[in-house]
Amino acid sequence: MAFAITQTCCNDATCVSVCPVNCIHPTPDEPDFGTTEMLYVDPDTCIDCGACADACPVDAIFPADLLTGPLQVYAGINAAFYADREPVASVDPAPNFHRWSPPTFDRAIPSDFAPPDIAVVGTGPAGMYAVEDLLLHTNARVTLIDRLPVAGGLVRYGVAPDHPATKRIGETFSRLHEHPRLKMRLGTEIGRDVSVDELAERHDAVVYAVGASSARRLGLDGEDLPGSIAATTVVAWYNGHPDVPANAVDLSAERVVLVGTGNVALDVARILTADPDDLAGTTIATHALERLRTSKIREVVLLARRGPEDAAYTSPELLALAGRAGVPLVVDDADPRTTAAIEAGTGKAALLRDLGRETVDWTVPPGSDARRIVLRFHSAPTEIVGDTQVRGVRVTGQEGPVEIAAGQVVRAVGYRGVPVPGLPFDDDRGTIPNTAGRVDGRSGAYVVGWIKRGPSGGIGANRTCARETVATLLEDITSGALPVRARRSPVAALAARFRGR
Ligand SMILES: Cc1cc2nc3c(=O)[nH]c(=O)nc-3n(C[C@H](O)[C@H](O)[C@H](O)COP(=O)(O)OP(=O)(O)OC[C@H]3O[C@@H](n4cnc5c(N)ncnc54)[C@H](O)[C@@H]3O)c2cc1C
Ligand code: SF4
Ligand code: SF4
Repeated sequence: MAFAITQTCCNDATCVSVCPVNCIHPTPDEPDFGTTEMLYVDPDTCIDCGACADACPVDAIFPADLLTGPLQVYAGINAAFYADREPVASVDPAPNFHRWSPPTFDRAIPSDFAPPDIAVVGTGPAGMYAVEDLLLHTNARVTLIDRLPVAGGLVRYGVAPDHPATKRIGETFSRLHEHPRLKMRLGTEIGRDVSVDELAERHDAVVYAVGASSARRLGLDGEDLPGSIAATTVVAWYNGHPDVPANAVDLSAERVVLVGTGNVALDVARILTADPDDLAGTTIATHALERLRTSKIREVVLLARRGPEDAAYTSPELLALAGRAGVPLVVDDADPRTTAAIEAGTGKAALLRDLGRETVDWTVPPGSDARRIVLRFHSAPTEIVGDTQVRGVRVTGQEGPVEIAAGQVVRAVGYRGVPVPGLPFDDDRGTIPNTAGRVDGRSGAYVVGWIKRGPSGGIGANRTCARETVATLLEDITSGALPVRARRSPVAALAARFRGR
């Protein structure tokens, strides 16, 4: 029986490089890499060696015949990926399977260059993939900086506490913290404690991996009323982020409306409706767990502007939510387009086929004592209603505006980058303008991760992103585009003279 990749896959492709028969796809060099929700094992080619399961940093790979509960569907999901795909896997008859080819050293700094001093700002996935690439492929000395006293970025303060396997990737990253060519500077904010210019003066290059820490706004009346809160705050609150006070989230409302259906919205809905006892053994902040124990929330409504076929969540996250015991996931079928899409099985609408459907009466409080989550599609918020406190949300509906009575609104419409004083900033995209990771108009500065490409993509997407940025940086060092690289170690300079250079 083959192995299968499951829900927590973050697309970092570690498994691809260890599979001896090249049966995990898409691989980073295939055109559809980065466009699929996860990677998939070809069950017809897999030889059951288990190497991928050992290598996976988030424990996403299991023998398909040992999958239980909601994970059972993944045997079929892996196989289905190959149903219409041209065969790409080929087993080399040689004992070592992979074809041998001459080694290449295209990601190294020539030995007659002095070790560069490189600062990496940000200890999230993007910063750590850049650090890994620099430490493993070059002789660079790295200073790793973060404004927070604890390293990890969104792996520590974003990934939901009930996703312990995903959080475990933090252990893979933190092994690099002990590397002899790495110095850590936690609790240091660039742009506040140290300026961009000061950092540049002390290093040959600086890689900014500062993420996207603020929340996108809805631009609606009532958005700043008490009771209207950004998902960024809720996420940081339940993860114990030092910037967010213990009392930042009020759970006294019976109905919470979550604007958005991305994976972050699903995370928030799941945590707000979870049985606190199930969260007790996780990394959830103590203050959040205590407050969840006295929570009045009975219903969380997820509001989607588009139909279920185009929902923003990924299939693995929706499947996990739908398969959770004790908290029903229900679809509001007031709009006939929703039912039509589910019955036709169009796109992601097919995921909702087995869910309960009902036409919810939004004028009355949630009907039962049991907690539940309601998905409402084709419905955009037009106003957050209330005088001194949120009372509800006015939304679009098939037959005109509808007011959903709710005491709390959580805006989950995306994260947004914040400017670093001293660096250029694209205010429309919330990113630092760059070309292949090189900051436009600022020699020696590079970007990686969400601040480079915008706030989307899972942990693994930052690995290919870092690869591109580090390649650009190495190219600049070796081509002499970074002026300081003219400097050479005395021995290397002597050797170069002997070679007549
Ligand atoms: C709520 C949430 C849940 C997620 N869950 C998953 C998941 O389950 N699986 C998955 O694959 N992906 C998940 N992701 C996506 C994943 O977290 C991101 O792809 C990834 O964290 C982006 O990495 P980054 O390094 O660019 O940013 P970040 O992880 O945000 O790291 C940025 C770091 O820079 C530091 N910093 C910022 N400004 C400065 C400054 N001026 N000076 C010094 N330091 C600074 C910050 O403190 C932070 O540590 C989730 C994202 C969110 C928001
Ligand atoms: S997380 Fe990485 S190693 Fe694990 S299955 Fe996904 S791509 Fe493979
Ligand atoms: S079990 Fe072995 S052969 Fe199968 S996908 Fe994993 S690494 Fe490849």
